[in-house]
Amino acid sequence: MTLTCKNWFLFRFATRYRHFLLAVLLGLCVLAFGLGAIYLHARGSLENLVEEKANIASALFQNTIDEAHTAVNKATPLLSTTCNPDTAEELKRISVLSPNIRTINLVKNDYIYCSSLFNRRLKKNANTRISVDYRLFLTTHNYFNPNEKILFLSEKVGDKYAIASIDVHYIKKTLKTIGQNIPLTITLNNKQSVAYSTLYPATKDGTLVALDSRDNEFIISSRISQKMYLDYMLSHLYIAMFLCAIFAFIISVNGYRQLKRPRSLQEELQRAVDENEFLPYLQPIVNAHGRICGAEILIRWHHPSQGFIMPDLFIPLAEDTGLINVMTTQLLSCVKSYLHNNQSYLPDGFHLAINISPAQCNNLLFYQDCLSFISAFPEGKVKLVAELTEREFIKDTGNAALLFEKLHNLGVQIALDDFGTGHSSLAYINQFNIDIIKIDKSFTQLIGSVDMPSHIVDNVVDLANRLDIDVVAEGVENTTQEAYLKQHNIQFFQGYLYDKPLPPAIFMEKMKEQSDIQARLQANTSVEE
Ligand code: C2E
Ligand code: CA
Ligand code: CA
Repeated sequence: MTLTCKNWFLFRFATRYRHFLLAVLLGLCVLAFGLGAIYLHARGSLENLVEEKANIASALFQNTIDEAHTAVNKATPLLSTTCNPDTAEELKRISVLSPNIRTINLVKNDYIYCSSLFNRRLKKNANTRISVDYRLFLTTHNYFNPNEKILFLSEKVGDKYAIASIDVHYIKKTLKTIGQNIPLTITLNNKQSVAYSTLYPATKDGTLVALDSRDNEFIISSRISQKMYLDYMLSHLYIAMFLCAIFAFIISVNGYRQLKRPRSLQEELQRAVDENEFLPYLQPIVNAHGRICGAEILIRWHHPSQGFIMPDLFIPLAEDTGLINVMTTQLLSCVKSYLHNNQSYLPDGFHLAINISPAQCNNLLFYQDCLSFISAFPEGKVKLVAELTEREFIKDTGNAALLFEKLHNLGVQIALDDFGTGHSSLAYINQFNIDIIKIDKSFTQLIGSVDMPSHIVDNVVDLANRLDIDVVAEGVENTTQEAYLKQHNIQFFQGYLYDKPLPPAIFMEKMKEQSDIQARLQANTSVEE
């Protein structure tokens, strides 16, 4: 049950705001497309940048190795001599003259026996032990720095090696300067690697950019994670992202305008029906004692951009297009819920009038509306009245007669609206068994005017009286008119003298006030008795 209600609410929400939702969706699609394109661009740019940096790092590292290679090549002739102060001095000279080389050493049977660091032959012990497996390798060594790895480059001659130690610190610094926040790693072909710490933790995911060195001795690589792509996008392409968001917003607003733009008046009317823009207003009908005994429903179009639109401007089109049927259904159902929620304030037999058009007399939709309305109230609580103007002629009288008969059977009364302005009043009254006539406001407004042709007004009022049916005088604006009409035995009045058409909530407040006054009067009377 809860789910059904929720779905219903969502459905109503989606229907009501469908243009807005579609426009938002359109904007989001444009935004997603734009950000997607920017993201792809960021990927390409960042990968190019990483490749560029890897190239520079590779060249610099290759250069360092070449320098080390030159240094060890200079030292290899010394492998044929024993280690004496001259040999050590020569090693020192080579090492000092070679950039980025810390030491040059001579190795035999896994032991350093001569080094640029010492002037003497070294003894075999733990500190001089070193195993040379690769041309390029990383290791820690007690002599040099037991806590830090050192990069060695070796050159073999017979069973001896000349090895140069290279400053790893320098290599890391160089990588950092080139890479900035891009994590560059040097991997030797024995799988050992040199890296430095960056903002981005080492990851196995992400795109791999790898460059092989000239002699396949090492690889410079970098893994680009999603976070790096996003950060790159935010820091380098934020203007493009901002412009994309603005563009999406403009597309969205434009789309909304286009969707809302009426293609024809008929479509605009249909849209307004779909969006429940037609609202019922209630104009009080008062009796001879000045008490509200009923109301007439008068439609108002609450247009989103043009404000309130009066019925004369759209009712003819609504009639031509048949939309008047659904509009009447909406009005009645809205008023039904107001009256239903406030029925304790309504006097019994409350008279509720609704206008119908001749076109509505050709089908039974209005009958269905009345049936649903009446069944919501206890019998006798609300008296429904269908007002039909005599200004327009009903063409298919057969269907109208059937409808009126069914309405009568349901207890719905028929009122002849704008009485006196048409030409078929008497014919109508006889044929359709009219219960109420409403004297047109143009006659009421003649009362009291200087050049009032009294016989015309008198004739209309007298004719209404002679027909012996209830008469409502419309358009009563002042007490002169009211007094005149009362003198002529009119019992019901409607007009600005009492109230303009009111929004239902305000009308209900008036009914509550009246009901409170009535209750107090009754209480006073019973106390006096
Ligand atoms: P109507 O049925 O004759 O309604 C009375 C009109 O007179 C209303 O105009 C009302 O606002 C106005 N009126 C009430 N008291 C006074 C007064 O003291 N002085 C003056 N000058 N005017 C007063 P409104 O609301 O503009 O309606 C115009 C017409 O539109 C209605 O005339 C009715 O024929 C039609 N209409 C209104 N609502 C509906 C509807 O829901 N369905 C249909 N089919 N027609 C409707
Ligand atoms: Ca009316
Ligand atoms: Ca009228």
